[in-house]
Amino acid sequence: MSPMTPARVTGTPGRTRVLVAGGGITGVAAAHRLRERLGPDAEIIIAEQSMRLGGKIRTADFAGRPVETGAESLLAARPEAVRLAEAVGLGDAIVHPAALKPALSLGGELVDFPAGHMMGIPGDPADVAAIANAKERPDNGLPILEAGQDMSVGALVRSRLGDEVLDRLVSPMLAGVYAGDVDRLSVRAVMPQLAAALERHARLTEAVAEIKRPATGKPVFATIDGGLDRLVTATSAAARAEIRLGMTVRELRQTPPDGWEVITGPVPDPIRVRADAVVVAVPASPAAELLRAVAPEAAAALSGVAYASVALAAFAFDGIELPERSGFLTPASEGKTVKAATFASKKWPHLGRRRQIVRVSMGRLGEEALLQYDDATLAKTALRELGEHLGQRLPEPVEQRIDRWGGALPQYAPGHVARVAAARVALARHRGVAIAGAAVDGVGIAACIASGQAAADDIAQQLAPK
Ligand SMILES: Cc1cc2nc3c(=O)[nH]c(=O)nc-3n(C[C@H](O)[C@H](O)[C@H](O)COP(=O)(O)OP(=O)(O)OC[C@H]3O[C@@H](n4cnc5c(N)ncnc54)[C@H](O)[C@@H]3O)c2cc1C
Repeated sequence: MSPMTPARVTGTPGRTRVLVAGGGITGVAAAHRLRERLGPDAEIIIAEQSMRLGGKIRTADFAGRPVETGAESLLAARPEAVRLAEAVGLGDAIVHPAALKPALSLGGELVDFPAGHMMGIPGDPADVAAIANAKERPDNGLPILEAGQDMSVGALVRSRLGDEVLDRLVSPMLAGVYAGDVDRLSVRAVMPQLAAALERHARLTEAVAEIKRPATGKPVFATIDGGLDRLVTATSAAARAEIRLGMTVRELRQTPPDGWEVITGPVPDPIRVRADAVVVAVPASPAAELLRAVAPEAAAALSGVAYASVALAAFAFDGIELPERSGFLTPASEGKTVKAATFASKKWPHLGRRRQIVRVSMGRLGEEALLQYDDATLAKTALRELGEHLGQRLPEPVEQRIDRWGGALPQYAPGHVARVAAARVALARHRGVAIAGAAVDGVGIAACIASGQAAADDIAQQLAPK
């Protein structure tokens, strides 16, 4: 055993110690909230398997600019991400996208993505008439969903508004977020507000019209000038957590009367860390592994979450003009590898317009083979198709890069919300353990922050002296 790795890390007697497994945005947000709740003396450890914090948030220096290679924007319409950025001293760095609209790439042309929809579902069929023939099925006067009932987005939209709305509008929107199959995505998990409204409405368009936010003039999205990595770094610094990189959490054991032993480190040379509580903020498959012996029901719920993979190409160009749009989405029926593109330098004014930067995403659920191609082949395909979508022959980019995100985007199947609730009930039988993150509570960064914070609140409450 190396003299640098004590076999057992027992902590300081009398000080509360919490271990957070996973150093993505969920884990660092949980650590930050734990510090707020447990005070300066608590020992908070973030155990992260890779050699960096951030998980699916990773900013790279690209063509002289900080460009996101994973997630690029925060939802500002809900409060958690913006509030966290402000709390960790990044309030002045919050920037918003330019007021540009995305397009749909249809039949080799970029056309306006219609307004007045929720994830592509119109509040009024007339709003989308230019793109899709929305035939609303006559209703039977009964609410579309009963309390707690769930169905797939595909089944919902196809049965109520027809194939075109689903294929041309809803699927491309959802593919941009989940890279998934709409027939396997749960309405209740991916559109919780809509699911709640469907319990009150017999018509899908009426449910959408009820919840569509009135335009407040406030921006819906934001990012951090200098890169989202800064949010991760500033949050972990403010948490004053002990960061252990390259530390894979392999097993959780309960120790009587009510503590935990966390097994990490290499198999032949394990390190055992004693902790009062554990936050599990890793993707579904490692989370299921960690919880298998502790709460098999919770492990079973997590192990059923499938993941989709995506590849991103980024290009920097000199001397080209991009359309005045934020980017485009492509319906799968167009038969292209490229499913979406962001004109990053148009969308994000803080990146500057000296160089045009485009991010192209490829891959939908079931297209994992795509990720096997080498970088040069992926870049060539992305560049050729980008030119086709833009209707111009593109020059050689001044810089390009490929990023692969294998098994990165969880797919919430119908029933997901109920399964996660049941998993939490099973976990609640054990003191001092909580699950959080994209595997359970939503893929968006703001949802992950909210999830990490809720797990930290839960743990703090459980550890509070009675
Ligand atoms: C290409 C792409 C683009 C995206 N774009 C956006 C966007 O624009 N806006 C948005 O809001 N969201 C976006 N998302 C989604 C969002 O980035 C993620 O859902 C979110 O960052 C997940 O955070 P997390 O902390 O829950 O999980 P992760 O980021 O997956 O972090 C989990 C961490 O756990 C670590 N880990 C795994 N196993 C172990 C173990 N056994 N022990 C210790 N550590 C372990 C991993 O190394 C990882 O660092 C995007 C995602 C991808 C892939």
